[in-house]
Amino acid sequence: MLDIPNDIDHLRAVDNAHHLHPFTDHKSLHEGRVRVITRAEGVWIWDGDGQRLLDGMAGLWCVNAGYSQPTLVEAAARQMATLPYYNCFFSSTTPAVAALSERLARMSPAGLNHVFYASSGSEAVDSALRIARQFWKLQGKPEKRIIVSREYGYHGSTIAGASVSGMTDMHKQAGDLPDFHQVMTPYTWRDAGDLSPEEFGLKAAQSLEAYIQQVGADKIAAFIGEPIQGAGGVIIPPDSYWPEIQRICRAHDILLIADEVICGYGRLGAMFGSDVYGIQPDLMTTAKGITSGYVPLSALFVGDRVAETFIEQGGEFYHGFTYSGHPVACAVALANLDVIDSQNLVGAAERQGATLLAGLRDALGDHPLVSEIRGRGLMIALELAEDKAGHKPYASSRKVGLTCRNFATEEGLVMRACRDTMVLAPPLVISDEEVGLVVERAARAIDRTWGQIK
Ligand code: PLP
Repeated sequence: MLDIPNDIDHLRAVDNAHHLHPFTDHKSLHEGRVRVITRAEGVWIWDGDGQRLLDGMAGLWCVNAGYSQPTLVEAAARQMATLPYYNCFFSSTTPAVAALSERLARMSPAGLNHVFYASSGSEAVDSALRIARQFWKLQGKPEKRIIVSREYGYHGSTIAGASVSGMTDMHKQAGDLPDFHQVMTPYTWRDAGDLSPEEFGLKAAQSLEAYIQQVGADKIAAFIGEPIQGAGGVIIPPDSYWPEIQRICRAHDILLIADEVICGYGRLGAMFGSDVYGIQPDLMTTAKGITSGYVPLSALFVGDRVAETFIEQGGEFYHGFTYSGHPVACAVALANLDVIDSQNLVGAAERQGATLLAGLRDALGDHPLVSEIRGRGLMIALELAEDKAGHKPYASSRKVGLTCRNFATEEGLVMRACRDTMVLAPPLVISDEEVGLVVERAARAIDRTWGQIK
């Protein structure tokens, strides 16, 4: 049995000395105290100091099936014992990857019958962008290269991921490749003004059409968007938004990429966000919930028009990864999809999402710091604002969201702060009692934040 040391102070010291963390201010991490997470069960995580926290973020929006599903562990062990690795290059496949592909094609939105695998959401997005550009080359239109995305979109952390994301701070740190452009996002709370949500949804979608008219559809390869923007702060589009985006993409022959890395596999109370909004994407990126985060895997769904062009035209497409279709990850994904089905986690997300949203609105709807509480399934946001009625946030220097996040941790709840938007996305297995605890703990964190800043 492999023994990982469990002396927490020692682990903290060696982590500080040798581990560069992702998405981290390294100076403040070194000045502070890293939290060592040692085990997890259901919706709960434990740290090395013995604190038990309710994981209101399902890790990074990924542990959809919760932390203690034995069949996923068994599937990994069985696959590791039989065939721990083989690749899908050079005309090879494995039973796990072939079976998973068939299953995914059966459950995907119409027309998405082909799947390409990688290990992370970022790689799935990169793959989608490369496939989109290559598709247009094969169609004799190599000048169609620009990828359009949206403000606050998050599509990953590779150079292309940072460039396609709508996070300006990421662009400043070498994430600014040419041929990427961002248009408006349908951030109703912040930007709708006097417009009705439906009018505003159309206005936001039409910012894509305005850009197309400016540069020409013959230069644009694809539009990419999350059905509901996650890391940007759970930005939920009005119902008018996606149909208009779909119309514009069709009218101008621009590929539509739905980035479902967060929305996919049940979180919104439907299997995919595209099912919720009636989106018919040409490409669809998924990751996270496909294995509930137990092992890394991403699946890029490729629509028939695109896939058949590659198949009919032939010629090697120089793209793929050592771990594309890793058999252990695929076996875990199959077990995870069984759990999602047999435990009806899609229905659970819808039901518990509605209960959590209602509980938060009851407890915090009139709170002086909370301007809006919105959600769909188990993807929920609370807008903390200086001017509640005028929808005006605090100056970022006040760090209100961060303060609230830290109070939530002290209260035993993992919440995320996107600016001053507090986000909840717990595992879909959350019980009624645990939903109640989330409401109580979030309310205490927000009260303490208000007590400190008012
Ligand atoms: N796309 C979306 C919508 C995401 O939310 C994320 C990560 O949060 C990514 C892509 C990148 O995924 P990964 O962190 O697995 O590379």
